[in-house]
Amino acid sequence: MNKENVLFEEEQAYLKEGYLCIKNEAWDMAIEKFKKALDVNPGNIWARIELGKLYRNKLDFGNAEKEFREALTMTLNSEQKEQVCICLGGIYWLRGNYGIAMQELREALKINPCNKKLNKWIKNRECINGFRKEIAPYRVFFTWGMHYECNYRCSYCYAPKPEKLLFDEKNQNKALYLSLDEWIRIWDNIYGKYGSCRIRLDGGEPSMYPLFIELVAKVSRQHLLQINTNLSFDVSEFAKVASPEMVRIDASFHPEFSTIENFVDKIKVLNECGFKLVVSCVAYPPFLDKIKEYKEPFEKLHIPFITHPFSGEFNGKSYPRAYEIEEISKIYNLDEASRLVMGWRKGEKNITKGKFCRMGQSYGRIYPNGDVYRCCAEGGMFKIGNIAQNTFQLLDEAIECGSENCPCWKCMIVCEERRWAPLWLDEWELPFA
Ligand code: SF4
Ligand code: SF4
Repeated sequence: MNKENVLFEEEQAYLKEGYLCIKNEAWDMAIEKFKKALDVNPGNIWARIELGKLYRNKLDFGNAEKEFREALTMTLNSEQKEQVCICLGGIYWLRGNYGIAMQELREALKINPCNKKLNKWIKNRECINGFRKEIAPYRVFFTWGMHYECNYRCSYCYAPKPEKLLFDEKNQNKALYLSLDEWIRIWDNIYGKYGSCRIRLDGGEPSMYPLFIELVAKVSRQHLLQINTNLSFDVSEFAKVASPEMVRIDASFHPEFSTIENFVDKIKVLNECGFKLVVSCVAYPPFLDKIKEYKEPFEKLHIPFITHPFSGEFNGKSYPRAYEIEEISKIYNLDEASRLVMGWRKGEKNITKGKFCRMGQSYGRIYPNGDVYRCCAEGGMFKIGNIAQNTFQLLDEAIECGSENCPCWKCMIVCEERRWAPLWLDEWELPFA
């Protein structure tokens, strides 16, 4: 075999290993393999594109942009050029650079006008109302705490319960139970004012809200929904009316009230119907030894599994501080996003008082009585109306934060878009990337 053939074989072997690492979600190893393929043949365009995508997935936008820009200096076929423009558009979007992102994405559409997903996405963007579509996070987000009811009583739950009187202990703070038509009218109005929003439903347990499935079916005609649920509802009935394009399920597994078999069966039904799913579980000390076992079925299905640290007292110890070192490695993922959360919680970067924040301008936290606040931080509490009393309106501009320490690593501080914009956007926002 001559030298050229040997090098070709070597390059192909690295590429093959790189794709295998991607399949197994071993991102760092995949980066090493594609780099080695490029050492052997710096002209391998696909290796460069894959490398750029891997950096982007790790939120390393500087290196990702470098790889894509380098690819553009090479002779690309139209498929490769389209991919590179899409990837560059995605990076600028995630960084919060609307104008240049749209420029790259429109260029990609010019190269391939048959890309239906991209075409639809650009059209949807263009019809979002007002200036909010041009500033990260490019649409309005809500968290809608629907009510306090839950059919479970998990030992580690810190959500307020109906039997305890609620949110400020005042009667007027009781949850609203409006009719289906009234809610549709409210969300239609919001669509008219702010365009399609992304609404995170939580509670309590959202599926315990009267006519939950009908409500999801109707509201999701206009808005993206992200449902935080214990999955105790009838998923087959749900899948008949909800659209996987508009609804994402964040399902939490609660071992005191559900078996893993039953929970996995429900996840499989939703997965087969095409819903985007994320599964989570609380690292309550009695469950710690079982977390690996809980995680396994979801790994096989390639569904992300997140472990939330427990906050509270157990056996006289105060958590999360009481976790042992080896327990921490079972709980926290060591990806970039998790590192950011940990750093924020430790208070490394969260001094926000006086800084301008877009929460309240592009985000609203709705409480079960209909009151809307700019965010959920106690010190940052700033009421912006009531959603059911027609007094709610988002702020026209970013205003100063009033909280000493912000608890939210996704807080939208102006000029820190590189930190937070990617955390609000996922493939829902960039379905073609
Ligand atoms: S399912 Fe969620 S809201 Fe309900 S008790 Fe458990 S942790 Fe609390
Ligand atoms: S920085 Fe944090 S506490 Fe302050 S307004 Fe923004 S989200 Fe609220």
